[in-house]
Amino acid sequence: MKSRIYYTKPSITELEIHYATDAAANGWGDQCYAYINKFEELFKQHLGVKYAIATSSCTGALHMGMAALGIGPGDEVIMADTNWIATASPIVHLGAKPIFVDILPDSWCLDPVRVEEAITSRTKAIVAVHLYGNLCDMDRLLAIGEKHGIPVIEDAAEAIGSVYHGKRVGSMGIFGVFSFHGTKTLTTGEGGIFVTNDPDLYERVLTLSNHGRAREQARQFWADIVGYKYKISNIQAAIGCAQMERIEELIAGKRRIFEYYSRHLSGMPISMNPEPEGTVNGYWMPTIVVDEGVAFDRNELLAAFKANQIDGRVFFWPLSMLPMFEEKRENTFSYSIYERAINLPSYHELASDDIHQVCGIIKEFL
Ligand SMILES: *Cc1c(COP(=O)(O)O)cnc(C)c1O
Repeated sequence: MKSRIYYTKPSITELEIHYATDAAANGWGDQCYAYINKFEELFKQHLGVKYAIATSSCTGALHMGMAALGIGPGDEVIMADTNWIATASPIVHLGAKPIFVDILPDSWCLDPVRVEEAITSRTKAIVAVHLYGNLCDMDRLLAIGEKHGIPVIEDAAEAIGSVYHGKRVGSMGIFGVFSFHGTKTLTTGEGGIFVTNDPDLYERVLTLSNHGRAREQARQFWADIVGYKYKISNIQAAIGCAQMERIEELIAGKRRIFEYYSRHLSGMPISMNPEPEGTVNGYWMPTIVVDEGVAFDRNELLAAFKANQIDGRVFFWPLSMLPMFEEKRENTFSYSIYERAINLPSYHELASDDIHQVCGIIKEFL
């Protein structure tokens, strides 16, 4: 029987198994942080940043980074309406308000014009989310941030491997965060990382990440502030070390899959993840957006996939559509794109034959 074509699935080799086994057998006592330290080192080298703190999730890394920037009750944080909820939750947990603005039709990321319009005296940060590996217009967002004295945070959870004019995503803002959830390009099962080039911000997050205990504090069990507990485990970090040694291969795999889709779907009335001049897209999630005016029902296509044992996923809903937020229909692009788009299967070991089959169903459907 034909096996299921999964939407995502980690790429696990003997190396991951070897490191995880070693961590489980020996990574205790004075070795209990060994893989964590190594993982942070490898990640810093890959990204070209000065500081990194591995965490139990990307959401936790964002929460601590935002807390360290002093975001709190009454503050506003600007972000794209089209998004995964994880970017908004820490803002709400800190008592601040996410301000959802529309995205650009080509990048599906923050529209800098809408960002600048949304700035008020309460704006504390702008979160640039590099959606599905696509790149935000960082030059314009950083210039807006600079002009108004507002830090730009990069949520690069979906964009490992993406490069903006020579700079890796996550290395350009006041801080960056990544996710190593099981669906992401690089995985530790669950996990994330906080990265920055700012020594003071690093120290503040380090203290927050250690239950508020500063590293120069000589007294044991003494906390100076109320902190957080979002640490990664040594066993997870061991898997992460193996994945970091294979990072170029993991990214190349995603790019290979995207290019195959792109080639086989050319000529269809759709657009896919863009890769503008001077950038590299990590292509975490190959996505098709059906042209406006073309009859298309995403649920019917997903049903056709399902009938053929293929997983697909819906494009992110506008967050402002969810019951806990205020509706913002003026974000017209966010409110139109989600119904015309779906994410395609893209796990690393996906065979060309399988991609071919997925493309065949899309072609027949359209
Ligand atoms: C996956 C994801 C997150 C959250 O990552 P976790 O590790 O699950 O906390 C945050 N932001 C974006 C854009 C994501 O895709």
